[in-house]
Amino acid sequence: MTVVGIVPAGGSGERLGADRPKAFVACAGRPLVEWSLDVLEAVCDRVVVAVPAGELRPGWVEGGASRSASVRNALAAAPEATRVVVHDAARPLVTRELVESCLAALIGVDGAIAAVPVVDTIKQAYPDGTVERTLERARLWAVQTPQVFRAEALRRALDVADDVLAGATDDASLVEAAGGSVRLVEAPPENFKVTSAADLARAEAALLC
Ligand code: C5P
Repeated sequence: MTVVGIVPAGGSGERLGADRPKAFVACAGRPLVEWSLDVLEAVCDRVVVAVPAGELRPGWVEGGASRSASVRNALAAAPEATRVVVHDAARPLVTRELVESCLAALIGVDGAIAAVPVVDTIKQAYPDGTVERTLERARLWAVQTPQVFRAEALRRALDVADDVLAGATDDASLVEAAGGSVRLVEAPPENFKVTSAADLARAEAALLC
């Protein structure tokens, strides 16, 4: 079994309002992406990072036009992979235990993904803001990364048109759409995503304590 880590770090991070791509913004004294890289390197045989063209390093690849296109580019550079751990650079508080729990859950399924139970009531609405229906909260989970896959299932799922990739908000949804089975693995609440400047400050505080 060869486990390859993939870190999509090719986004511009416009919502953060920084002067560089989000993954390369300083967080607790080092580029944000390095926190995730440390954890993945401890668990995987090799890690491929997908980055904007100006940030390339040996063994890394250029990101694509969308998050899943970046994952596809990285996977194309890892033909030896039999298991793939995809983890966003934007979640620096990931732990080795969480990655290992996802890998351990990858038995009899194509994917095992980190997720937390939803605490808010979720409503589905029309574009004008009118509520269409209220979803059953007890069955809802907010999905994160790491997302771990059988490499063959992920390769098949990513072999779709660029506009399909662009519409995907995670890789598991593409695996599901290709007929694959995906299992949830409960994640700790600290594994949040850095999107805004306030998230960055919160991540920094957590990493420094
Ligand atoms: O924008 P968002 O926070 O959802 O991005 C999640 C992850 O996907 C980030 O780590 C970002 O760098 C990465 N990404 C990418 N290529 C893109 C867009 C986003 O690797 N084209």
